[in-house]
Amino acid sequence: MKSRFMAAVCAAVVALSLGVHAQGKGGAASITPAELKDWLSYIASDQLQGRQVYTEGLGLAASYIADHLKEWNVKPAGDDGTYFQVVKVNGVNVTRNSSVTVTVNGQTKTFKDGEGVTFPANAGGKQTVSGQAEFVGYGLSLPEAGIDDYKGRDVSGKVVLYVGRGPKSMPAGGNRLLGARARNAIELSHAVAAIGPSIGGGFGRGAGAGTPAATATPATTATPTPTAAQPAAGRGAAGGGRGGANATLGDFTTVQRLDNKVPPQITAGDEFFDFIFSAAGQKYADIKAKADGQDAIPAVALNNVSITINVDADYTIVQTRLTRNVVGIVEGSDPKLKDTYVLFGAHYDHIGYQQTPPRQQPASPQRPQGAEAGGGFGGGNAPGGCTGQQRDTPKAGDVINNGADDDGSGTVGVMAIAKAFATGPKPKRSVMFVWHAGEEAGLLGSRYMADYPEVPLDKVSAQLNIDMIGRNRCDEASEANTVYLVGSDRISTELHNLNEDANAALAAPMKLDYEFNDPADPESIYTRSDHYSYASKGIPIIFYTTGLHRDYHYVTDEVGKIEFSKLAHIAQLVYTTGVKVANLDHFPARDNKGPRKGKGASGKIGS
Ligand SMILES: [Zn+2]
Repeated sequence: MKSRFMAAVCAAVVALSLGVHAQGKGGAASITPAELKDWLSYIASDQLQGRQVYTEGLGLAASYIADHLKEWNVKPAGDDGTYFQVVKVNGVNVTRNSSVTVTVNGQTKTFKDGEGVTFPANAGGKQTVSGQAEFVGYGLSLPEAGIDDYKGRDVSGKVVLYVGRGPKSMPAGGNRLLGARARNAIELSHAVAAIGPSIGGGFGRGAGAGTPAATATPATTATPTPTAAQPAAGRGAAGGGRGGANATLGDFTTVQRLDNKVPPQITAGDEFFDFIFSAAGQKYADIKAKADGQDAIPAVALNNVSITINVDADYTIVQTRLTRNVVGIVEGSDPKLKDTYVLFGAHYDHIGYQQTPPRQQPASPQRPQGAEAGGGFGGGNAPGGCTGQQRDTPKAGDVINNGADDDGSGTVGVMAIAKAFATGPKPKRSVMFVWHAGEEAGLLGSRYMADYPEVPLDKVSAQLNIDMIGRNRCDEASEANTVYLVGSDRISTELHNLNEDANAALAAPMKLDYEFNDPADPESIYTRSDHYSYASKGIPIIFYTTGLHRDYHYVTDEVGKIEFSKLAHIAQLVYTTGVKVANLDHFPARDNKGPRKGKGASGKIGS
């Protein structure tokens, strides 16, 4: 009996991975355009009012998903035997006691937080970090643009210092690239800390004056909405008028543990840099003049300069708001492997509705109401980065941001994948499905799940995340069979290759495009949806998206514009990849080689 059953399961899995339509229920063949359309017609309906976090509409969506999970006998994996994990969103006040101590040729100076150096409001748990100082000019590594300040340097274990706003040859999307310098120094080059200039104006946030957005509040680099990185005033109609938002209290908002130790990302003023360069044979004033003029900055060796960073902040929670992730598990078939997991995720929230009446006179015909949210994405005033295109004209009186593509498409895609597993053959490992809340408000649900996981993170082999898979990028017909993959090669080369194999095994393989995985891609998409919360914990991830379009974050992102057969096709690819990972006798190897597939690249990575 048992072996016959197992043989049947194996045969079914082989049939699926070959793209053959399996007979009977479940599996990839159960993922159909008609069912996806049926579900999305509710999820993205006006009745759900744009599914903004903390609103009734989001609650209706959560119940709808949970009801289906119950119908398919997916096991509840949230709190207290329910399908829901309560996410606590804390407003936090900070008391700053952190400092940076610099030793130059035996002479020591200490700079306190707020006096020459500025720590982010959320600087993480108390710790001391030390290292030799390494000056990396503008701190940019963009080889495609002919800029590489890291060339020939090993900054591993060191404290990286950089200045300025980049050279005259900075490519488009410069502000985001500048804002990512500290994170890249730490994540890609393995520095223990990063110290950069205080850059006001351009992209400083109100609360963290002069602090790059990416540094000020790690919890607000949401995706794919860049609104969080813009000054509050710039949020305009799409942000200020969204329904249901409570006033935010505290110096910063977070769902994460406050005792997490995070590599320091600090900004510093002239006095600090003066001292750093005091024995370097190069005056800081000269370097600053070159940086201000966006000229080439000479290499300066900071011999005998060491830095000790004392992170010491006390936090007080002054507000807690609640939302919910929806979570379910389908248990694996192997008694030994079933306590390990492959995770599938999408965010089921969106940006709500517009509370305030439409503006009579848009500032520019290219930027009608709501354009702020997506206007900067992809450069210029083109909505969704779609050059030469304009927003579609909304129906009269339409104020609901339906989010059919963002991320209704991922929401129903993961529902279909859950049903395929629940009603079909079971892989060896268990599979867990998470519909994240509050992605649009700063990856709230996924950051919370990564810090307060419902299954131990060391039992998670990979996370596959879906955000916006229902359209063609900029509505181009040439994109009809294209899906963009981000991050697949960064932590595990093996995971990348499993996905390539899964795609090749589909009856009709898709075109896998790695453009957004390019480390020089100005949108930094790798850091901007829920997968990043898991990747930050070292878990291999793949992010699937079909890219942006002119209806991005606008009331015209509606069900009628969704390509349901494409949506089903991508969900089958994600399912098939998941089956492969869940049947592996080992976790995809974490070789952490970073991004290698970029623009124009394709195929597997050879050994
Ligand atoms: Zn999204």
